[in-house]
Amino acid sequence: MVIQKLFRWPKRLFKKIMKIKKNDMVLVTKGKDRGKSGKVIGVDLGKSKIIVEGRNIYKAHVKPSKKYPQGGIIDKNMPIRVENVAIICPGCNKATKIKFSGSGKDKKRLCVKCRETLDAIK
Ligand SMILES: [Zn+2]
Repeated sequence: MVIQKLFRWPKRLFKKIMKIKKNDMVLVTKGKDRGKSGKVIGVDLGKSKIIVEGRNIYKAHVKPSKKYPQGGIIDKNMPIRVENVAIICPGCNKATKIKFSGSGKDKKRLCVKCRETLDAIK
């Protein structure tokens, strides 16, 4: 954990996480859910991690608290590092890379494969 705090994220990873937004569909490329896709339900810019709905679920032991009055073992949706996911284009339905077009307010995310915008479909 200490190592993670000291480690500074390379700029390319920061750029990548800036491209992924909530409600995007992503494909998990590493880890126990490799090859499965899911919807992004949370983005942690500071840690370069995202939370994918129903993916990377781990059992966690919790003490009884207000949120979990019973305590015990719960399923926890753990964040996935951004380099271990690829965005899925809603246009061509393939894992793809994002390219930007325009600037300022007109800035759009485009699929490099079919050039479809990734922002239109919500
Ligand atoms: Zn596409």
